[in-house]
Amino acid sequence: MVFASGSTGEPSGGGFRISGRLIIALVIAAFSIIGYLSSTEYNPITQQKQHVDISPQQEITLGLQSAPQMANQFGGMSRNATMQAEVSEIGNSLVSKTEVGTTPYKFDFHLLADQKTINAFALPGGQVFITEGLLKLLNTRGEVACTLAHEVGHVVARHSAQQIAKQQLSQGLTGAAVLATYDPNDPSTQNNAAVAALIAQVVSLKFGRQDELEADKLGVRFAAKAGYDPRSMIKVMQILEKVSRSRTPEFFSTHPNPQHRIERIQEAIDQEFPGGVPDGLTP
Ligand SMILES: [Zn+2]
Repeated sequence: MVFASGSTGEPSGGGFRISGRLIIALVIAAFSIIGYLSSTEYNPITQQKQHVDISPQQEITLGLQSAPQMANQFGGMSRNATMQAEVSEIGNSLVSKTEVGTTPYKFDFHLLADQKTINAFALPGGQVFITEGLLKLLNTRGEVACTLAHEVGHVVARHSAQQIAKQQLSQGLTGAAVLATYDPNDPSTQNNAAVAALIAQVVSLKFGRQDELEADKLGVRFAAKAGYDPRSMIKVMQILEKVSRSRTPEFFSTHPNPQHRIERIQEAIDQEFPGGVPDGLTP
């Protein structure tokens, strides 16, 4: 738009000037589209081709850079060391006992002090968060594991990176170029407006419906492989649904409503375990 419109006060004489600008705009748009289409990668975890234009290392950097801002939005980190240790232990088992451990991502599982907000979320690269408000509603280790496993699913499916690629496409930029100007070891580059915009985007937490269902599916797989009963994911949905009768968990502003999700989670469990869920998994 900027390129196509002549601004006031400029010497007129313009047909060529305007069409020149149009050509520039078209060239930029073409490069963006070609960049988007050519930046296709195969994701071995989801077994799908996806459009991403930043590397896993850049995802990790972006996540680490965004983590303090995310924590500040939710009352900072929890001071309950016992609960934090349990969250870390359960989260780390999801990584070490599954194919998640073979990905380049570096996972940290943070408990946030916020008692009122009921939510969990993930930043690109492996920074995963759950609020005390949500953790206290969960009754079993399996329910905590399934909640964290869903968030791990978002990370390894690279949902944020795909969103960045789409966003960059519409802006005629590439995430890789933006991040290339950013040096995590040099604080002066943190104020780079484009990097700030990327951070604002990744902390806004919104994923599409398909991304949520894919994260559920991956979550079922990872939780079960790590020794937790995947049916606890359905319990989590039921807990959130019950809470939603008296108040709306923030979880629902960033995640689809649970009724449809419960059916899809059950389908994912049936697909993963055609002969039934094995005995001996931690509920
Ligand atoms: Zn989600």
